[in-house]
Amino acid sequence: MLKFPVYLDNNATTACDPRVVEAMLPYFTERFGNAASHNHFFGWEAEEAVDHAREQVAGLIGAESKEIIFTSGATEADNLAIKGIVEAYASKGDHIITVSTEHKAVLDTCKHLEKSGATVTYLSVKSDGLIDLDELESSIQANTVLIAVMYANNETGIIQPIKQISDIARRRGILFFTDATQAVGKIPVNVNEDGIDVMAFSAHKIYGPKGVGALYVRRKNPRVKIIAQMDGGGHEKGMRSGTLNVPGIVGFGKACELSAHEMKNGSIQADTLRDKLEDALTGIDDVFVNGNTVHRLPHVSNVLFRYVSANSLMMRINKEIAVSSGSACTSALPEPSHVLRAMGLSDEDAQSSLRFAIGRFNTDEEIDFTIQKIKEAVMHLREMQAQVK
Ligand SMILES: *Cc1c(COP(=O)(O)O)cnc(C)c1O
Repeated sequence: MLKFPVYLDNNATTACDPRVVEAMLPYFTERFGNAASHNHFFGWEAEEAVDHAREQVAGLIGAESKEIIFTSGATEADNLAIKGIVEAYASKGDHIITVSTEHKAVLDTCKHLEKSGATVTYLSVKSDGLIDLDELESSIQANTVLIAVMYANNETGIIQPIKQISDIARRRGILFFTDATQAVGKIPVNVNEDGIDVMAFSAHKIYGPKGVGALYVRRKNPRVKIIAQMDGGGHEKGMRSGTLNVPGIVGFGKACELSAHEMKNGSIQADTLRDKLEDALTGIDDVFVNGNTVHRLPHVSNVLFRYVSANSLMMRINKEIAVSSGSACTSALPEPSHVLRAMGLSDEDAQSSLRFAIGRFNTDEEIDFTIQKIKEAVMHLREMQAQVK
């Protein structure tokens, strides 16, 4: 039996895995201690739980637990990384290189810094969504302190050439930060193999709770300096003050452990369902997949339904299927996706595109239903348009 609506918006957020909720529950009630209370059992118990979660989180990305700073999510981690590095390395310079298809949490942080005098280069992307490594290399200046390129895009799933980017950054002695919110837990991400210095990610995109995330900060070769953006009790080695969200952190840890175990099977399952969906949809006339289809997350598909408005399409199906056009953070605005525009799509094509993001809990039956429903809706909307003309 299908349960409606079918949820295919797993890049906006995911359901908390019941095993995650189960791990969190005691930390709301009997184990409610403050992890910074060093004088009694309640604090020790909470601290022990946080230490364990820190190991689980670090383990998923090949880091040391000391290199994990807990935050309220990826938005805060993006802000802390970029602002904190620009502040810490001010004597070296204040030029940042990033990409026009980044998440708003990165783009708007850069814009904020530009107002206070920093300079930012926004790299373009090719029509397949990938950056041009020569353009990156030639954008580097003597005063460049940071290269910020996301691991995988939230709207298209496109994976940037992280290893090549980090090689360039290393060679030129520049720090490399990546927003890996969509990649961590979905594909293997290893901060050492990938040459990442600083990395943001979030629990609620990997079946953990909302309101908790992390910043990975490399401690050797090189030891990265970050100036705190939140002052107070000196939690998280002084990098992020504020009482730790113990239940959230416990849930994040559990979510990371589960993702590590289930990544291989999960991505094969997602990939199979995604390909089935994509093959069927692109069988309709004038329907195309946006962006590179090789360097891409296994569960994401951004599809252009030419001559059909994505909004009308969503309105026709949204009682039964939850999808999105663009990111959750910007879809309240009627503007075409900045990501698709940067890839060279016209406003009209960008506004005719939908993002499908498959998750751990989707079934084959749901995909069959989605295919049928979308096909009908596209045909119907095109017919109505033909009548108007
Ligand atoms: C969801 C997302 C964010 C924001 O994460 P929060 O934890 O919700 O703040 C940042 N970057 C990317 C790429 C995302 O997909």
